[in-house]
Amino acid sequence: MKGKKKMTKTKKVIKKLKDEIKQLKEEAKIFYFYKKLILTAAKSQYEPKDVVEGLKFAAKLIVKKDWHMVEKIGGASGDLMARGACPKCDINLVGENPKPRSFTLPCLIKGCTFNIEETNTEGIQ
Ligand SMILES: [Zn+2]
Repeated sequence: MKGKKKMTKTKKVIKKLKDEIKQLKEEAKIFYFYKKLILTAAKSQYEPKDVVEGLKFAAKLIVKKDWHMVEKIGGASGDLMARGACPKCDINLVGENPKPRSFTLPCLIKGCTFNIEETNTEGIQ
């Protein structure tokens, strides 16, 4: 009976520690992405104003924990101008009414709405 009680206590401690590790990992992620973002901003060729806008946008995404989009903006091959991603093909969308850059089209992904709207169909038969 005593042994069983001890076991339950150990399990509780393990669970508590696992939860704490999970929480710490989540907190560490924030700093990890900020670091990436700073490095991307430091080597960016964009105008300072655009870099600052990109940083502000990414900071909001970090608060929202939208890691996928943060990576697209601030990751190693991130684009500080990215403001969204196509739900089908994941190409970066830029601008106020986010659209793909013309050179990224056509992406040739089936079901990509930007392909249909934005490209001349002559090239793809
Ligand atoms: Zn697409």
